Order: sequence, then structure tokens, then C-alpha cells
Amino acid sequence: MISWLLDSFRRHLSLPLLGVIALAIASPALAQKGKLRERLTPDVMAIVHPGAEWLGPEEGSPPAIAAYKGDKVAAYIFSTLDIVNARAYSVIPFDVIAGVTPEGRITGAKAVFHREPYVYQDPIRQPQLDTFLAAEAGQPLNGAPTIRPDYVAQSTITARLMRAAVHDTARLVLNARVSRQSVTVPTLDVDRFELKSWDELIADGSVGRIRLTSGDVASAFARLGVADPALDEPLGKPDDLYTDVFFGLLDPAAIGGNVLSGVRNFEDYRQRIPPGGHAFFMASNGPYDFHGSNHWRKENGFRFDRVRIVQDGKTIGFVHDDYQKFLTSARNAPGTLQGFHAQEEAGVFILSPNVSFDPVKPWRLELLVTTTGQNPVTVVFPFDYKLPATLILMPDEPVVAPWVEAWRDARVNVAILALLLVVLTGIFAFQAQLSRSRRAHKLVRNGFLLVVLVWLGWTASAQLSIVNVINYVAAPFRGADIGYYLAEPLMVMIAAYTLVSLVLFGRGVFCGWLCPFGALQELLAQVSRALGVPQWSPSFALEKRLWMGKYIAAAAVLVLMLSGIDGSGASTEIEPFKTAITSKFTRAWPYVLYAGALLAIGLFSERAYCRFLCPLGGVLAALDRLHLIDLLKRRPECGNPCHLCERSCPVRAIEPTGKINMAECFQCLDCQVEYYDDKRCPPLVAAAKRSYDGKAGAAMPTAAMVKNA
Ligand code: SF4
Ligand code: SF4
Repeated sequence: MISWLLDSFRRHLSLPLLGVIALAIASPALAQKGKLRERLTPDVMAIVHPGAEWLGPEEGSPPAIAAYKGDKVAAYIFSTLDIVNARAYSVIPFDVIAGVTPEGRITGAKAVFHREPYVYQDPIRQPQLDTFLAAEAGQPLNGAPTIRPDYVAQSTITARLMRAAVHDTARLVLNARVSRQSVTVPTLDVDRFELKSWDELIADGSVGRIRLTSGDVASAFARLGVADPALDEPLGKPDDLYTDVFFGLLDPAAIGGNVLSGVRNFEDYRQRIPPGGHAFFMASNGPYDFHGSNHWRKENGFRFDRVRIVQDGKTIGFVHDDYQKFLTSARNAPGTLQGFHAQEEAGVFILSPNVSFDPVKPWRLELLVTTTGQNPVTVVFPFDYKLPATLILMPDEPVVAPWVEAWRDARVNVAILALLLVVLTGIFAFQAQLSRSRRAHKLVRNGFLLVVLVWLGWTASAQLSIVNVINYVAAPFRGADIGYYLAEPLMVMIAAYTLVSLVLFGRGVFCGWLCPFGALQELLAQVSRALGVPQWSPSFALEKRLWMGKYIAAAAVLVLMLSGIDGSGASTEIEPFKTAITSKFTRAWPYVLYAGALLAIGLFSERAYCRFLCPLGGVLAALDRLHLIDLLKRRPECGNPCHLCERSCPVRAIEPTGKINMAECFQCLDCQVEYYDDKRCPPLVAAAKRSYDGKAGAAMPTAAMVKNA
């Protein structure tokens, strides 16, 4: 009766599977939208925008809260859930609160809600995710990121989906609030203005500075072998200031408006710059000013011989007509003016549009000091100048889908896994040849399992799990697109390979060869047997009943997860994969104890977890009946009277009748090694004996004979 019930349960397992799939449609989102202000706790604000002085109301479409510094909007705070409702790998919508400055830089990001099974309440991955998102602070919406994202073990794709949602949402928020010039190549932002002091301009690089003492100049000449240089401006004591030059590009209002003491002054001045031309400001203190007097002299070509600009290896000089001197207060009325106008000398050079110069590219100012006399010697003091990134409008980056980024980043691992799968395909294609050599089979199998455990499992963290099955099944009902399926490259490759091999040959290709935890169990079992640990083998009737454990586990996990009853994914902890493979036993002790106990049981009964409890194994075994091709060879004598293969099967997949139960078979090929062994396989032994004796009709060896063979 019990066996009838169990058989019936197995036969109809596809019905509950279909049922739970249907439940996926009804699974609710768990995060609550709206009322962003209530979610902006001090902890969240400390990460999202710590510099905010006060917050405005939640308003606009898409909704956001303006964070102010003084009376200026410093950032807009928003929620990804409220605006784009993006979903993570578990397809449950997450909520990341983030901020973006009006200039398009993320101010910070924090996940305030998610239910990612590998991250939720995980003491290692949750902090990794927090760090990953916090590192978004300062990242531009346009242009290349200034940092590489950190790694979130086993959940990098979820982290990337969150980051992509933050950027997408920030663009929507900004587009509705700040009109931005759209450009196709990096372009100087000439219009944006922000009030800054002279010191702030020096600090952010808008104003470059070369400060030299007499000692610096004397040392430079000494390096050229000139001990006591004769100069227009004689050197003083070593610590005396020789020159202190300030310089920069005047074109952008953010620099020109501040250097020339007001946007109005700058706008007036800008009229003098011909279209396509550029302006450079320079100022200096100390005896050696930046302009000298040679630019007044015709015999000198009216050239300025103390400064020049170098960009991309091309030198650009200035002549007298390029220059306009500014009146400054340093000599006449000290303290009345500030910044540029407060230096001893100040002026602006205008570069003609005919001179090739790219304002957004870095360039270098070279300050030249030349000796007088017959054989002048010049020393060059270079200073690199690069505009602040905020003054360069970047073209909108083509938005790279997270799955594209994931494949690009994982290309080395993808290549290694592809090679591994090619090798595995070769093993199956030539399994008959491989099985003819017991030694070769052992070497190849153990070598492959070792690679699967160490590289695929412990290094690449690519352990297929019931979580993946649930996510793949639920995704279409929850609006996930193709990018979702492609999000985890190694997992996609393994899942696709498993699906194809499941339909062709059964579940054994994955469970026997590609499951890192299965490999760990099998390798430990070999060590255990080599050490003579006694093995437990239940009766076949009990074995069959115990097999049902994995189907029950699979159905329970699928129902709980897909119905939303188990929103946190606690039931998937029945799998020890997270502990033993992806976390490499670095989790809390109850998890480690559980995984260790399962592995310990496997020391006495090979792959006990696989045979009796694994929900993923249960799903694959349930689907195994679809397989089209039986690769494993059998003889009429298998099961009656011979039982050699049956006893050689480490997972009891061969029934006493000799039939292989493919749902339990791991395609390990142990039985095939026996099948081709003409010294152990009784029919082969008998055939060999017949041919040797030249006699017909030799009796078939019995099971007892086989046992002793
Ligand atoms: S039954 Fe489970 S643990 Fe065992 S090999 Fe298959 S998936 Fe891996
Ligand atoms: S010994 Fe044969 S039947 Fe048993 S698991 Fe290996 S391949 Fe399958």
C-alpha cells in the first residue's frame, strides 16, 4: 500500500509542480511604495546624502525629495521602488534609496528593502552589498565610472541590478528637474556656474599654480651645469620667492565667472573671445612675473618667452596682440581686491580659433627661465592642467544592460567553463572507450570532480541550486525579461547544459559531473572507503522509500517559495550548498554543523544527501523521465543471473532485476567499467573462456561466482 502511494506520488509529481508554478503568478511584492519621507531615517540619510541640511517635501513626477544646503538644492533623494520598481535576481522588487546632485553625480545609495536569498540577513553578504551601493557616492551618471564595483559573493548580479536601477531612476529624476545640454562628444560646459572662492578654485584644479623659490631655480640650472646663471631677474636667497604663477582656462563660466569676479564681468569679457577661440588667465607674484618684457620687442617677434602651452606634444606660444593686462590691487591698493585681481601681475591671453587646441583635453603650462648672454640656457618648469570633471559634459553613455556587463566581466570564467563543458561532452561522446580502462576512468572522473569542486564551486561559486530553478520558473510570471535569464553567465551556461543533457540523457550528467556539492560528497566517500570506514547500505525496499525524501523536499521548497509563504527563502537552507560551496564553510555554526553532518553521513553511505534529501536532485529526478537516450549498456544477463554492476553502483541506481533506474543514476560510468572489463564481467569472462577452450555451452557464472570474481 505504502509503495503504491509512493509510486503514485512520484507518478503525479508533475501536478504539484504545475500548481506551484501557477502560484508564482500570485506572489505579492513585499515592499511598500510611497511615503518616501518615512523611509528616510537618519541611518539612511547618513549614507544617501550626509551633507543635507534640510529636506523639502516629496513632490514632482517622478517623485523625489530635494535635499538642501543653505538655500541651494544639493541633491534629489529618490526611491527606486517608487519610480522604476526594479526587481532583483529573486524577481522580488527591491527598494534602494539614493540621491543625485543636479550635476548628475550619485550622492549615495542604500538598499532599504530586498529579499535576495543569498544576501537577506546574511552576515557576510549584506555588508558587502551595503559597501557596494555606498561606493556609488560620487559616481557620475554620464561618462565612465571612476571606480570598479566591489564583489558581492554569489550576488553580484543582484548588486548590479540595484546599481542599474539607481542610475536609471536618477536619470529620470534629473531629466524632469534639470535641463541638461545633450552632447555626443565630451564638451566643455561653458554655461554652468557655481560661486567659488579663489582658494576653492585652486583646490578643485580650476586654477593651476607653479611656485618657485630662488633655490628651486638655482638647482634646476645646476642640473644643467650652469652654476651661477645670469638672469633678467637675479636670484635671491634660496628660500626667497622667485615666482608664484596662477593660471588656467578662462572659457567656462564656472572658472571665468569666479576669476573675473562675477558672471556679469565674465560675460562682458567673453564677447572678446572670437567664436572657436579660447582664453587663458595668468597671474603671478614675485620678481619673476609670467610676462616679462620681451613681448614688447619687435626683434623678439613680440613673443612671450616666459610661458607656453603644450597639448598632445604640440607647443602653443603667445604674442603681444594675444594679451590683455589687468589692473590689480597688489601694488596699488593691497587688500581691496581678491583672488586673480589681488596678485601683483594679472592678464588674459586669447588664443585664435586658427590654433588647434581642445579645451577638454589635459594640457601643460611650461614656465621658462632663460639665462642672458651669448649662449642662453633655458630651464623649463612644467605644470599639468586638467579641468575638473564637473566642467566637461559627457555624452550619454549607451546604457549597458547588467547582463551584458556580467558577461563582459566574466569572460575568463565563461571561457574556462565552456572548456569544461566541451571536455564533459567529450567524456560522454567517448564514454565506451573511457570505460574500457579502469585506470583512465578513475583518473578522468576524479580529476574532473576535483576541478568542479575547487574551481566551479569554491572559486567561481557556480553551484546550481533549487533557488535558480525557482527563479527561472517564476521569472516570466513576474515580468522578467530575457536579460534576467542571462544575468549570471556561469549559471546560465550550466543551467542550459543541464536542461539539454536532462532531456537527452537524464539527470545524471549534472548530478554526476557538474554539481560541486555532489563532487565533494563523492570525493570524500572515496577517501572514506580507502580508509576502511564501514559502509551502510539499506535494503533495496528501504532505499526506494528513502528516495522519496528528495521529492518531498523539492515539492515543499517549491510550494513555500513560489507561493510567497517563505518570502525570505529560509526553506532553501535545506540545501547545504550556500554553506559548503559558495561560503566555503564561513557561515554561522548551525549552518556549518548541518552541512558537516550531511557530509559525515555521506562517509558511511555514498551521496546520501543526493539520494534522499536534495530538492534540486528531486526536481531533476522528477524530470528525468523525459530523457530520450539511454547511453548505459546492458546485457541480457544483467540482473539474472549476474549482479556485478548492481553491486558496483555506488548509489544503488541498479535494481535487482538489472534495470537501471535513470532517475537515480549519476552517470558515473562505474557500471560501464564493469561492463567492459573482460576479467570481471562474467559474460565476457565466459565468452573469453569459451573461445580459449574452444568449447561451447559454458555455464553462466552465478551471482556467488561474481561476488568472488
Ligand atoms: S542530488 Fe543534489 S547535491 Fe547531489 S549532485 Fe544532484 S544537485 Fe548536487
Ligand atoms: S554505476 Fe552505472 S547505474 Fe550506477 S550511477 Fe553509475 S552509471 Fe549510473
